Amino acid sequence: TGEIIGLPDIDSSLVKITTTTTPKTRPPSSKLIFGHTFTDHMLTIPWSSATGWGTPEIKPYAPLELDPSSTVFHYAFTLFEGMKAYRQEDGTVRLFRPDKNMARMNRSAQRIALPTFNGDELTELIKKLVVLDSEWIPKEKGFSLYIRPTLIGTQNALGVGPSSDALLFVICSPVGPYYASGFKPVQLLATTKFVRAAPGGTGGYKLGANYAPGVVPQKEAAKEGYSQNLWLLGDEHALTEVGTMNLFVAFKQPDGTVELVTPPLDDVVLPGVTRDSVLELAKAHARGETTIPGLPQKLKVSERKLVMADLVNAEKDKTLLEVFGTGTAAIISPVDKIGYEGRDIAIPTGSDGLGDISRAMLDQIVGIQTGEIEHEWSVIA
Ligand code: PMP
Repeated sequence: TGEIIGLPDIDSSLVKITTTTTPKTRPPSSKLIFGHTFTDHMLTIPWSSATGWGTPEIKPYAPLELDPSSTVFHYAFTLFEGMKAYRQEDGTVRLFRPDKNMARMNRSAQRIALPTFNGDELTELIKKLVVLDSEWIPKEKGFSLYIRPTLIGTQNALGVGPSSDALLFVICSPVGPYYASGFKPVQLLATTKFVRAAPGGTGGYKLGANYAPGVVPQKEAAKEGYSQNLWLLGDEHALTEVGTMNLFVAFKQPDGTVELVTPPLDDVVLPGVTRDSVLELAKAHARGETTIPGLPQKLKVSERKLVMADLVNAEKDKTLLEVFGTGTAAIISPVDKIGYEGRDIAIPTGSDGLGDISRAMLDQIVGIQTGEIEHEWSVIA
């Protein structure tokens, strides 16, 4: 008694591959709109509480057939990831820190009682999928393949409880540079009317349920002439994230040191892969282990609480150097204006739209992603 018989985990060696007999025509790279075009194939892996993870299948991209009672439709049993594959000139396809996405996906699954899985095995399957569809990755600079792993609850029954069935699937979308015409800085509206995430809630997890409620605030910000929400928390108006990106602010200190600050995760901020990458790279530079071209020599890197008053004061003192968002889609998104309590805080940007830190970080991360800079974060598919 008491013996635990493990149910099967995801096993990439069992994959059944069926290639399409009717390949789609690929639109020219210049016509791609982010997330609107999908490749020829997808990956699916079913799960049930009785039998564990089933046979992975790579097969032609096609609609899913789901019962209308499926838990995903009623109680938002859905979570996802966003990662990218990059193609080098010699045809080599690379992923960027896939282990981070797999770990986050498992955290998300745990949070809503969907099944966890072996992330290395899913990464192996994603590699097979992106290599099969690698012709879809445009050759032009700045283009890549956006990968969307998704996990949904598929039990056919109403009633809020753990789902007895689930489906993991992965689809891929060729994408161009997020900002077609260079790095146009964005304007943020510091949002006090809506809250994205609260302590004890789900903001630190990549759940579908976190995203639909952000659309109305985004529309309201757009109506006032701002492109994204700056999400605040609590009476002190602590900064958390911007739109669907993590947030960085750079300040000049009296001795000339530049302090790069990002809010702590504290279970209200999504642990972004780009956020972690910026932190790791900047910290290594600050410790003197590596030198990243363009970063200030005297750099301090902090994960600490930031409140709106810090920004207002820094603008007055002229110590506010840069504000930028980070995320897989755009990598770096510079900010030049924040609307707050009826007026705008102005943030300096260079003629290319970027600041010294955001430019240095962008160059370094893109270099690693494309394989031009040798780094263990870049994984060959
Ligand atoms: N915050 C939120 C709310 C997000 O949806 C994302 C995009 N996944 C990010 C931050 C950035 O995360 P990453 O760098 O892993 O793309």
